[in-house]
Amino acid sequence: MKSNHILIQILILLAFVNQTLAQGQKFPWPDGKKMALSLSFDDARASNTSLGIPLLDEYGIKATFFVIPASVKKDLNNWKKAVANGHEIGNHSIMHPCSGNFIWSRERALENYTLDKMRAELVQASAEIEKLLGVVPKVYAYPCGEKFVGKGIHTQSLVPLISEMFLAGRGWMDEAPSDPIYADLAQLTGMEMDQKEFEEILPLIESASKNGQWLVLAGHETDHSGNQTTRLSMLKKLAAYANDPSNGIWIAPIGTIAKYVNETRLAIADTMNIPQLVRPSVDGQLRLTAENGRGIGPAIQYMPEWKAFGWFTSNDSVVWEVDVPMDGNYEVWLDWSVSDEEAGKEFILTAGKEKLLGIVEKSGSWETFQKKSIGTIPLKKGYGKVIFKSNEAFEEDGAILDLRELTLIRKD
Ligand SMILES: [Zn+2]
Repeated sequence: MKSNHILIQILILLAFVNQTLAQGQKFPWPDGKKMALSLSFDDARASNTSLGIPLLDEYGIKATFFVIPASVKKDLNNWKKAVANGHEIGNHSIMHPCSGNFIWSRERALENYTLDKMRAELVQASAEIEKLLGVVPKVYAYPCGEKFVGKGIHTQSLVPLISEMFLAGRGWMDEAPSDPIYADLAQLTGMEMDQKEFEEILPLIESASKNGQWLVLAGHETDHSGNQTTRLSMLKKLAAYANDPSNGIWIAPIGTIAKYVNETRLAIADTMNIPQLVRPSVDGQLRLTAENGRGIGPAIQYMPEWKAFGWFTSNDSVVWEVDVPMDGNYEVWLDWSVSDEEAGKEFILTAGKEKLLGIVEKSGSWETFQKKSIGTIPLKKGYGKVIFKSNEAFEEDGAILDLRELTLIRKD
């Protein structure tokens, strides 16, 4: 958008401020909180109901417990009480299958599982939990954090199954918190809190807070000491810290936060540029939008109000990573706007060694977007990059176009 010089300078300044915000990509946690924190405990250990849950209840903190139905049965009344007190119950399978490298899991090794077997087991686990506790688990924790079944060339990922069956899936012994904008909710990271002092956990919280992230802590027993034990002394300090409003922490069960993240992502999807692999839509089209492209260059800026890249100078380009469904000639539709004064410059679209050149036609104004076929380009099946840029140098305060979308449609 260009009109006069001063306005341009103001707009560039605003664009810069905007870009700084965009690069930070701060996710809007509720009530202006700086981060989210979930506490989770696996296996329904006896010390959870005897010591851990009473402590959490004292601080009014709700946690997520990934349970094995057989363990719940041993202490049913206390687990019912935990549910009544607002704690979340998650699925952790029936058999707790892990790699056969664990000798205790050799008879139920993930290497010998199939996806169908795992699905049946998870359905059964949820049904048993519902029968015992009256709640249907919405979240899952991968036993041992392992996300596969099978061996060698027969190995398959559990992630698609968990993504289909649950709102979220949590790992174990991960190294960093989850990013609420970017994370695959079926692969939330779980960071260990067993055998740790609060002083060891604090840097994780501070880092998550600085980056606006979601820290999911994972543990097992809740006791004074011992193996696989989240220490009560640590938990007390953590609870007090999380409850201090000046620390800006939203502490809630995984399912509560996952639901908020999903809803918020939908609400802000139109205002965010998140470069990501473009896969064909159901009708086979490849939609290379400004939302999923990566703007590269000195001036280029994603403009959420237009869902387009603007400030597209001769040194700027947009790159898309694309998963092409099949070899063929693809017709390219350009969705763009440009002022009459800036129209007429030559663009170049490249995909591997293939090129498509053309002239940016008038659209009417910067505010008027048009959609038009600009020719065809051959594409090879598989992963590739598509790049759009100016094919001529022009003066600094000029612009080639505002780019909203390239739609690639295969021609027979
Ligand atoms: Zn476990």
